[in-house]
Amino acid sequence: MFKALLINKTDEAGYRCALTELDEAQLPATGDVTVQVAWSTINYKDGLAITGQSPVVRSFPMVPGIDFAGTVTASSHPRWTVGDQVLLNGFGVGESHWGGLAQMARVKGDWLVALPAGLSARDAMAVGTAGYTAMLCVSALQRHWADNDMAPGRGEVLVTGANGGVGSVAIALLAGLGHKVVASTGRPQEAGYLKSLGAAEVIDRGALSAPGKPLQKERWMGVVDSVGSHTLANACASTRYGGAVAACGLAQGMDLPASVAPFILRGVTLYGIDSVMAPMAKREAAWATLANTLDRQQLASITREIGLADAVAVGRDILAGQVRGRLVVNVNA
Ligand code: NDP
Repeated sequence: MFKALLINKTDEAGYRCALTELDEAQLPATGDVTVQVAWSTINYKDGLAITGQSPVVRSFPMVPGIDFAGTVTASSHPRWTVGDQVLLNGFGVGESHWGGLAQMARVKGDWLVALPAGLSARDAMAVGTAGYTAMLCVSALQRHWADNDMAPGRGEVLVTGANGGVGSVAIALLAGLGHKVVASTGRPQEAGYLKSLGAAEVIDRGALSAPGKPLQKERWMGVVDSVGSHTLANACASTRYGGAVAACGLAQGMDLPASVAPFILRGVTLYGIDSVMAPMAKREAAWATLANTLDRQQLASITREIGLADAVAVGRDILAGQVRGRLVVNVNA
């Protein structure tokens, strides 16, 4: 038997997520690798799954948790053997296939990444899908800047949703690369935290969240946006000639009320970032860079540890914008 969060949806009881005990025999038959999970996390999408606020869960009952790190205990996949240290992000895990907010998981071996050398399972989940997505955003910008001969001194980089998981890790990564990072937040009281991660300036997100002009004063050589909606439109409208915006989130909204002006008059590039189905080579490169570059003390300052039993309440908090940085879940606590 093992502990897990389980989501059920019935006409009688409605949508419910609760801590329960399951039998290993109940794990999905479709997987070819069984993993003893050590650590998982709560991302924004986990909040959506746990609360049912958005229909991210495709079948019931479902174990939520879009990521986990742990040790292989059984495998019929050629790449993995018992004792391997692995991590997983996305591929529909925690949405259409049982996920990581549990002490055991059975998944397809093709979805697993070897835990990079030098990164503990706990640190990997402190980074989690949010931090790995921040890395994908930063990598897209770096490739763009390299192709367009834009060195760090060529302008400021905007990070929106700064106190969130994606935002916090993006600030740390960009500042570590020598960029002048401007953090946009609705929580100005956290300015000290954002500056400790490397933000040079903190701005009120209200400056970006209302409808704005199609072209605005050029400021950003790049943007990491986890917010969407008017914020993303305004970020594009104030990106400098030839700059780039990496869009990965929708914390403000899924809409994009923008004009084509920044793209056709300033050559701005908008990169869409998806972590869920990202190809394996891209994942492995992102995790290797994270393992080699992310400052562990900063990662510790970003991270709060919780137990599996706390995850339901915290899933509500993350959607309410009340979580700062990253949450790592000790599934054995
Ligand atoms: P968090 O909840 O940790 O962070 C989101 C942040 O956005 C909040 O901390 C807050 O920052 C800001 N925010 C919240 N509500 C609003 C609002 N109404 N208007 C403007 N800003 C707001 O989430 P994550 O960092 O884990 O994820 C961020 C987004 O990225 C989510 O939409 C998530 O679904 C998406 N995502 C996408 C992935 C992909 O593959 N494309 C992968 C991972 C995440 P502050 O308080 O500083 O203003």
